[in-house]
Amino acid sequence: MAEGSAKSDCIVGVDLGGTKILSGVFNHSLECVGTAKLSTKSQRGVDKVVERIGRCVQDAIDEADLTIKQIAGVGIGAPGAVDFSSGTVIFAPNMEGWKEVPLKKELEKFLGVPVFVENDCNISSLGVYVAELKSKPRSMVGIFVGTGIGGGLIINGDLYSGANHTAGEIGHMVLEVSGPKCGCGNKGCFEALASRTAIFQQIKAGIKDGQKTILTEMLGNDLEDLRSGDLRKAIRRGDKFVDRIIESASEYIGIATANLINILNPEVVVLGGGVIEALADEMMSVITETAKDYAMPGTMKGVEIIPSKLGDNAGITGAAVLARKETK
Ligand SMILES: [Zn+2]
Repeated sequence: MAEGSAKSDCIVGVDLGGTKILSGVFNHSLECVGTAKLSTKSQRGVDKVVERIGRCVQDAIDEADLTIKQIAGVGIGAPGAVDFSSGTVIFAPNMEGWKEVPLKKELEKFLGVPVFVENDCNISSLGVYVAELKSKPRSMVGIFVGTGIGGGLIINGDLYSGANHTAGEIGHMVLEVSGPKCGCGNKGCFEALASRTAIFQQIKAGIKDGQKTILTEMLGNDLEDLRSGDLRKAIRRGDKFVDRIIESASEYIGIATANLINILNPEVVVLGGGVIEALADEMMSVITETAKDYAMPGTMKGVEIIPSKLGDNAGITGAAVLARKETK
């Protein structure tokens, strides 16, 4: 029975996204021993999505040859605003009908183990901090550029959540007062200037205005299947139009990075998310140079700005770290 009891401290981390659910089972050394993936299908309604999260957790446990009895807890990174104490998703803009969803309560009923819910970018930052930064700095800022832009702040070795548990909403830092409208209602938010959504909008608007790009040759005029990887291919084939748009997005990311360095002076800034993953070689030097231009003298000394290598695993790892911390 010794083996069984050793395994009972396994935990599950879940990354809940607008299009897919990822889950991973982690052992006591935080090694991933089983994963599963399901599409979210948020159009089917909240109850069905909760059920799918439960199924995805069970699939990963099955994959690891374990049973739910051997799981101490489940951590979940959810997109949008989360009330951590009640485990309620207050609002998730990329998920249909997700307002005031008591995710912790519903999933605990479904799975029969403790569940902890936190914002997805906070969770990813925690994952990067624990699993990727071997030097264990005291402070780190995570910036995740994907469909939107989110972030997480690690201060004194712990996730900083603020007075109302909403800290780290760096995607809504205003960088251009008269800039494009953001999903939050403001104008010129970081997210409205440099997210994948913003980049794709700029590309589509440019094509409408008659700009020439290899992308239409690659994908046709409507660019329905456009992905971040296509932008990398276009730039490597010498596409000046795409190159300019990515350079502009990189500059905004650099400015946001400088603002954060001026305010927090972290030891490390980690950049992640689908856009950075696909375009790190094209973007990182512009981001770093722009950050140096905008940071106050002396603040950048020794500060590292690096791309994350964890990719999709940042979310499930961070969620597992949270569950481990809360079940200890
Ligand atoms: Zn905004």
